[in-house]
Amino acid sequence: MHFPIFSTLTVLAFITGKVDLKLVDLTHILGPSPPNWPGDPPYIFTILYRQQFDDYWYELNKFETVEHIGTHLDAPAHFSEGSKRVHEIPMEKLAGPGVIINVKAKVAENLDYQVSKDDLEAWESKHNKTIPNGSVVIMNSGWSSKFPNASLLFGTETPDNASTFHFPGWKKESVDWLITERFVNAIGVDTPSTDFGQSATFPVHQRLGKGNVPGVELVANLDSIPEYGSTIYVAVIRIYEGSGGPARVFATFQENEDDDEDSESESDSETSEESVSE
Ligand SMILES: [Zn+2]
Repeated sequence: MHFPIFSTLTVLAFITGKVDLKLVDLTHILGPSPPNWPGDPPYIFTILYRQQFDDYWYELNKFETVEHIGTHLDAPAHFSEGSKRVHEIPMEKLAGPGVIINVKAKVAENLDYQVSKDDLEAWESKHNKTIPNGSVVIMNSGWSSKFPNASLLFGTETPDNASTFHFPGWKKESVDWLITERFVNAIGVDTPSTDFGQSATFPVHQRLGKGNVPGVELVANLDSIPEYGSTIYVAVIRIYEGSGGPARVFATFQENEDDDEDSESESDSETSEESVSE
């Protein structure tokens, strides 16, 4: 089965006077055979009913999966005993100002790149803003288009062997700084793990857990939202005692006529950034 890369992108515009409220889906389609972490049982979708009865058509399916599949949330309890499980995470922690850290140029040179504090400070000076309290901060490494191809996603010919994985993630020190200095709500990636592929001890997962900060993994379509100015929602399935769960991640942001100038200067600076990186 073939999924067009941008089939998950949904943009709706509600025109209210001069203001467009845009809604962008940041979620991969779950299935039919989403890649999963080595050793985890596979996702299984079973059709129970898809048939015509005398008076009506009826469909019902069953899906069996680990919690950590597709676009999903890591609860703090995932790597930290005694921290919050999915059903205990307050709603307020599952949304916030979207802060997108674009590290595509660095990842093009190093698949094992880890987002540094320099990258966060560069974001703050570029946008002339302090990363707001309660933000949802997500790395955009350009990885989204690799889903659902397991070899591309895990950066290896042997996606059943985690020691061969190569993909970018967060540096523990950067996450520590976001938690203690910027009081963010959640930290995410467009790759399969908040720790980079070569990590064997998962220090970022451990730090997020201890701080009771949820992680978000395999976020899609980050190129479709601004680096600043959106609100991101992580609508995770509220599994009792869950260590994580599939999530519908989406962003809203406003565009008005005044933003045309901003978006022009934005794209100018992005163009010059790209030409510098080349
Ligand atoms: Zn996870």
